[in-house]
Amino acid sequence: METWNGLCCSTLRMELDTLSSPDDSNIPDNQKFFPKSRIRSLFSYDQVLQLLQCSCHQCFIIRNIISPRAPAYHKLASRIVGNPNGSRSAKRTYILILAILLCIGSPALIIGFLQRDSGDPEIEEDLEKFTSDYTQQTFWPKLREIKPFWSKTFGDRFRWKKYNFVVPTIGHEIFSLYSESVVLPFVEQRRIGHVEPDGTVVSEGAYGHTYAFKILEEYDAISVRICNLGLEQDDG
Ligand SMILES: [Zn+2]
Repeated sequence: METWNGLCCSTLRMELDTLSSPDDSNIPDNQKFFPKSRIRSLFSYDQVLQLLQCSCHQCFIIRNIISPRAPAYHKLASRIVGNPNGSRSAKRTYILILAILLCIGSPALIIGFLQRDSGDPEIEEDLEKFTSDYTQQTFWPKLREIKPFWSKTFGDRFRWKKYNFVVPTIGHEIFSLYSESVVLPFVEQRRIGHVEPDGTVVSEGAYGHTYAFKILEEYDAISVRICNLGLEQDDG
């Protein structure tokens, strides 16, 4: 029998919301990202253990649909946070997946990902594969069958929110092309170019805007700290 242990997923969701970067209220939420190091600091083993047993109405119903028998929560929590000093398989984590699910209001769905051994390495390897249809039919087929509206809502939210949590590491490539949905781990970004007397920045050169930025250290695989790249094409 499940017991209430004092932590509700909505409390942790509010904490998660404060972890996005850059810390600038002028930047829309959909252009911000959640650094993995901050997510890791939020999800201690104890927090995850409590979150898995959240007794809010929604978590309770989802858990009962996708895992009618109460699983061994302590084992699931260990797998989610991983063991950095363990074997290769013990090192794998599910914290990015759990953060996305917490953000979209359904952390209990993490059980479906654990059942399929599909964690952070899988979503980092192929982010585009995790479409709304794919997540629904792969990780919560029973929920899709019993509560199709919930299933579609979570699938659609997952499909969009994943970009704010799974962010590419910037490597040595001279030129990189990303899908427009990808959120890049940039901070202190500003547009550069010819500056008009009124302070307006006007693009120089052809067909592109140019920005200066810093790459958040944990996503920086190159030694040059400030780069200039054409990131955004003009409309016409
Ligand atoms: Zn809950």
